[in-house]
Amino acid sequence: MQAHSGKLIIITAPSGAGKTSITRHLLKVFPEKLDFSISATTRMPRSNETHGVDYYFLPMDEFKQKIQHDEFVEWEMVYEGKYYGTLKSELQRSWKKGKIPLLDIDVKGAIHVQQQFLSSALLLFIEPPSLEELKHRLESRGTETLESLQTRINKASYEISFKDQFDKCIVNDRLERASLEAENIVRKFLE
Ligand code: 5GP
Repeated sequence: MQAHSGKLIIITAPSGAGKTSITRHLLKVFPEKLDFSISATTRMPRSNETHGVDYYFLPMDEFKQKIQHDEFVEWEMVYEGKYYGTLKSELQRSWKKGKIPLLDIDVKGAIHVQQQFLSSALLLFIEPPSLEELKHRLESRGTETLESLQTRINKASYEISFKDQFDKCIVNDRLERASLEAENIVRKFLE
């Protein structure tokens, strides 16, 4: 699958930086143009998540089979033993509808996709105002154990070191302001 397949937008950020909210905002503002790219993952669904809406929740053997059959644009072991990946079929699904897939993926995955799609991809990096603020946001989300919280903070600090590789970096100091900034950047890209 090459760059001529179509445009795509990638939103990446450390977990908890607000990229899901910004992704939702963009999907709401541009419903005719953008399509959420549903990733596959081997992690368990959270109580508010639905298979085929938030993720394709796959057993490990099925995920590995898809790797062997070259069905992913990119995949990563984002957390210890937990795989996440963007299926080629998912991007094709959006392009066939005449839409642009919007990917909410981790930093390494974003860089891999960028290498394959070059100028047809827009990469947005959402940065938390500080690591302290990120910790606070993750704690108040209430979905993390002490251990997984620390893992996410360590990963965030590593991921922020790659921010210069992206097309635009948006500091999520206030969600409303950051969402508007993302909206303006995407509007230009869609022109
Ligand atoms: P969560 O478990 O909180 O839903 O997601 C954990 C991380 O995995 C987030 O940073 C999310 O963006 C990332 N992620 C979700 N889907 C994919 C994917 O398809 N590929 C990669 N590389 N990362 C993903």
